[in-house]
Amino acid sequence: MDEKKLRKQLVRMAVIIICSSAVLCAVVIGVFAYILRASHEADHTQMETETQEYENRILIQLDKNLQTLATLSTSYEVSDVVEDPQKLEQSIVETNKVTSFVSMAYIPRKGEGVLNTPGHGTRNDFSLNDCSEYAKEAIQRSLQGENAISKMFDSEVSDTKLFVYSVPVYQDGSIVGALAASDTLDIFKDIVNGNTVMGGRGYIHILDAKGNFLVRSENTLVKESVTSIFDGPYLSENARSMAQNAFSNRESMFGDFEYRGEKCHFYLEPMNFNGWYLFCADRRWSAILPFGNTILLIGGAFIFILLLSLVLLCIGYHKFRKSAALLLQMAYFDSVTGARNTVSFDRDFTEISKTKKNYTIAALNVHNFKGVNDLFGIAGGNRVLCYIKQVIEENLKEGEIFCRAAADMFYILFFGTDKQALTTRVEQIITTVREATTHADYSYEVSLYSGLAVQGDREKALVALQSIQHTHRINTAFYNAELHEKLRKKNIIESYMQTALQNKEFKLFLQPKYSFKDDSLASAEALVRWQKPDGSYRYPDEFIPLFEENGFCIKLDLYMVERACEQIRGWIDAGIKPIPISVNQSKLLFLDRNYPAHLEEIVKRYNVHPSFIMLEILEDLAASDLGQINAQIETLHAKGFKVSMDDFGSGYSSLNMLYQLNIDELKFDRGFLRQGPETNHERRQIILEQIIQCAQKFGISTVAEGVETKQDRDNMAILGCDYGQGYFYERPISAAQFSEKYMNGRR
Ligand code: C2E
Ligand code: MG
Ligand code: MG
Repeated sequence: MDEKKLRKQLVRMAVIIICSSAVLCAVVIGVFAYILRASHEADHTQMETETQEYENRILIQLDKNLQTLATLSTSYEVSDVVEDPQKLEQSIVETNKVTSFVSMAYIPRKGEGVLNTPGHGTRNDFSLNDCSEYAKEAIQRSLQGENAISKMFDSEVSDTKLFVYSVPVYQDGSIVGALAASDTLDIFKDIVNGNTVMGGRGYIHILDAKGNFLVRSENTLVKESVTSIFDGPYLSENARSMAQNAFSNRESMFGDFEYRGEKCHFYLEPMNFNGWYLFCADRRWSAILPFGNTILLIGGAFIFILLLSLVLLCIGYHKFRKSAALLLQMAYFDSVTGARNTVSFDRDFTEISKTKKNYTIAALNVHNFKGVNDLFGIAGGNRVLCYIKQVIEENLKEGEIFCRAAADMFYILFFGTDKQALTTRVEQIITTVREATTHADYSYEVSLYSGLAVQGDREKALVALQSIQHTHRINTAFYNAELHEKLRKKNIIESYMQTALQNKEFKLFLQPKYSFKDDSLASAEALVRWQKPDGSYRYPDEFIPLFEENGFCIKLDLYMVERACEQIRGWIDAGIKPIPISVNQSKLLFLDRNYPAHLEEIVKRYNVHPSFIMLEILEDLAASDLGQINAQIETLHAKGFKVSMDDFGSGYSSLNMLYQLNIDELKFDRGFLRQGPETNHERRQIILEQIIQCAQKFGISTVAEGVETKQDRDNMAILGCDYGQGYFYERPISAAQFSEKYMNGRR
């Protein structure tokens, strides 16, 4: 996953969390609001119901008292009490003793009646005119036949407010007077002081038509002594004007007031009595607060959790980004040099190649990087790699990319396809690295080489690189299809060589070697042919260089020695006089310590005298330590083997090899016989003659390779050369053909 994708997903996650939290928040607020509203409405209904109930209780209380009076009046109807002033006074006093009225009076339609006020005595001259205005009005209504209750008025005997119940008194069907009793509002105190209003959290006041308190509950929240609800801290400005409206229109209303930080809800309802009102207060907020607090607490906790999770998300995001960056760094960058790795390179290369076609991929490698590590240590090797990375970086144009693949392998994407320009650019990198890494003490040049593939890919660049892997002379090579084919073949060969050896697909071919003296067969050279399962052949130049490179030659050469021995043993067993066979030996095998012992083991196994085996070594072996080679030659001589120097004169052979190496035979490279237009025939003759003479003096026999014509043969014979080998005599042929053609006559 790349960084962009990662960020996108995290943002999406954050948005989801925020959105779902917001939705959850809205739901919680909605539920909270709904609960509040529902509880508010439930409050209203309860207040209305309870106020109604209290009104009923008050009215029942009033009615009860009125009925008490009415019952008394009926007793007067059937007796002569009202006509007898003494009896009347006695009745009123007696009755008033058992009732709890403040005073009781009988007022006749005409004349004077009786007023009894416990504690203040009895008046027998009490008439309608002695009554206060409101009492008078009520009594007059009773004289009209109505049971009446008066409005409140001030008591003459005490400082309390009173009101009067009044009922008509009949005699023979007509009203003769009125029975009246006064009472205080104290009768309602029990009702309003009860603590059951609104489940104990409320209280009720009785107000008059102007909002003055008639009966003020002891449970009141507002403790100040005020006479009206419009006084003191009761109502807010808003509630006050609403209440005034309610009073003037005799309407009910709900409102709020706040007292010392406590919020209350109230309900004002006009009573069906005397223009009074009931004021029911409910400490709603106080009651609802624990519940509200819980909800607020939950809401707060929820918001806290939301904020916390957002903070955690942010921290997580940052940490995640950090570790993701680290992971991306590890996934896309090389830890040693900090350059991209192949994953990152390939990803960007794919993108670039979609739009750009004029590009070239180069593979860059260090010759013998193992040597650098051995010499400077791993840390030193790493420093070299870092320096190479820096040089590449400095030589790139905008948009060009590069990476370090494994070990010392770098790949570069260059823009452009001009081979000359590309070569110059790569050479620039190679030169800079070489010059900078030439160490004063070690004089070690880090030498780079590069394979390039125009409009190619890493694989093709690698093919080009491998084509010059072993040639230090060439620094750059461009990919072509032929190279690829070569590499393909090489891979096939390498993957199959072991099986081929087991299957004995490597065949012994022999080429005769003739003596110039008498043109007789002297010996033969073993030349390997790889016979594929389909019968076709692969020739040594297709696989020997590769086997020398990968070390398989060690096995193959010994195998060929064994085949040569097998052949000699075959001849001997067939009663044929054998001839010596020369076998080509690679450098790797020749310098192996156990090599002579191996050879000895083989010849012994086939019971062949070692003098029948001539070991051909290439002259480039002489570039190695001559002392070491001589020691090996001595060992081989001691065991009875002979050694021949092959292809003499093809490379940089020197005469000093001639006298330093204790060889038995010298084979002139066939190049000596091939004359180019520029060849100075005469000089060549002199040199050949001198070398042959030298060899003869050292007891080294000489062989001319590549004798193709009679002229070649005569020429070498005149110079004193001992033997000749070449197409003039015979091409390499299978061992069977050779035996058939040359050996049958030697029985
Ligand atoms: P070499 O040892 O110098 O073998 C002589 C090569 O010259 C042979 O090529 C042979 O076919 C060729 N030749 C012989 N006469 C003439 C001639 O008149 N004109 C021309 N133009 N060529 C002639 P071949 O068989 O292809 O072998 C090539 C090389 O492969 C050999 O060169 C030898 O170095 C190597 N080789 C062959 N077999 C083996 C082997 O078993 N082990 C090792 N290590 N190398 C081998
Ligand atoms: Mg040879
Ligand atoms: Mg040769």
